[in-house]
Parts: sequence; C-alpha cells; structure tokens
Amino acid sequence: MDAEEHKKHIQKMKELLEKREGKEVTWEEAEEASRNLAGLAEILYELWVKEQGWKKRLQESPKGFVLEGRGRTCAICHESSREEGSWYDKWGVTCLTCHGAVDRKEIPGSLAKREKSYYREHELQRAFNLKHSDVTRWIKEGVLKARTVTDGAGRVHARLFLIKDNEGTLPPKKLVESQLVKEDRDGQTWYRSYEWYCFGDPRETLKGYKIMDHLRIIPPEEMKAREEEEKRQREDRRAKREARKKLRKKL
Ligand SMILES: [Zn+2]
Repeated sequence: MDAEEHKKHIQKMKELLEKREGKEVTWEEAEEASRNLAGLAEILYELWVKEQGWKKRLQESPKGFVLEGRGRTCAICHESSREEGSWYDKWGVTCLTCHGAVDRKEIPGSLAKREKSYYREHELQRAFNLKHSDVTRWIKEGVLKARTVTDGAGRVHARLFLIKDNEGTLPPKKLVESQLVKEDRDGQTWYRSYEWYCFGDPRETLKGYKIMDHLRIIPPEEMKAREEEEKRQREDRRAKREARKKLRKKL
C-alpha cells in the first residue's frame, strides 16, 4: 500500500470512529485502530488458512483426527484445553473429553455447531443467577434435565442443558443475553454489561417459561441493601490494601 492510500484508509477510519463515538478522534487514535484491525485481520486469515488445511485432511480421515497442542477452545464445553491435543472433525474443534462423550453418544456432536440450542452450565448460572449447588438441586428435583459429559471413567466433565430437553422451562438464549450499555463517566465513554433482568419486568420477558416459577425477584429495598453491603466490603478491602502499601513503604 502506498503512502497516499495508507492516508486515505486512516482518514476513513477516523470518520468511521467519529461517527460511532459522536466525538472527535485524533489521527494517532485512528492510526492505532487501523493497526489493531490489520492485526486482527492477519490473525483471522492465518486461522482460515489453517482450517483449510484441516478440511483437506478431513477428506482423507473423514472420522476426524487429533490436532496437536493445547489451549484451543472446545466448541461444546467452551473450555480451553489444558491437556495435549484437541479433536477435529465435521463438527469443528472439540476437546478430547467432549469428543469421547460424542463417541459414546452421551451428547450429539451437532451441539458444536448449534450454539443456541443449549445452555452450558456457566451460561445457565449467569443467566439465572444460580450457584452450582442450585443447579444440582434443580436437576434432582426434576426442574431441569441435564446431559452429562463424562470423562469415560464416570467423572463429570460438563453439564449441558438442551432447550429441547427442557421445553417450556428454558427460554431461547437470546431472551436472557446480557447487554452492553454505553455510560458516560467523567467525560469518558465506558461500556458496562448488564444482565437481561435489569431491563423490563423479568416476569414479562419469561412469560410462559416454567423456570420463572422457581425464581424470585429481589425487592428493590433488599437489592439496595445488598449493593450497600457490597460497596462496604469493597471499601474495606481497598482500605486494607492501602494500609498494606503504607507498611511496605516504611519497611
Ligand atoms: Zn469440551
């Protein structure tokens, strides 16, 4: 790219950012954003090239094969693999444990491609403000039906909640997504994530879904008391941190 063309790209980025942010963006900021974007495009391109190679290899080994290395995110349990190796087949990249569970027919492999058809446990916990023990109790009581992914030796690797197994109880995931809200703090723009239940009446949002019968809406006074308690604890921790810092300086 020649210098003139480069300049044109930065100018375009500057205009785009200014339109989105609703304020002036410096040339340096626009340049940095362009560099970041170019870096991202490069990473995505490398990933794409790699995947083309895997797809080709899949023609020779249609059942799939092991990808060497660790740290890849499993398309089913969403965990990043700590152990060596992941599995690649027509469903994409999964960890070896989830792949074993697909092989043993504990779960369908198609889950890797149908993100919206089920809740992972951490997603369920976040969406409905539940603890691990609440989920376990609800499974025992028959409120929820889980598919358990084991490691083949009986140990639980993950619990998945298919919407079709919990029809009429669990809503589509898009109803309980958290939302980013633009906030202005001291003249700076921040994005903060809010849970779905901060917008509108949760009973209306989840009307007709049985999970609502098992949830309690915290009254505003109780919520306020909780927030105050959290704030008090935060301040307490900060004061202790400050005190430790002072002590270190003297030593
Ligand atoms: Zn997995």
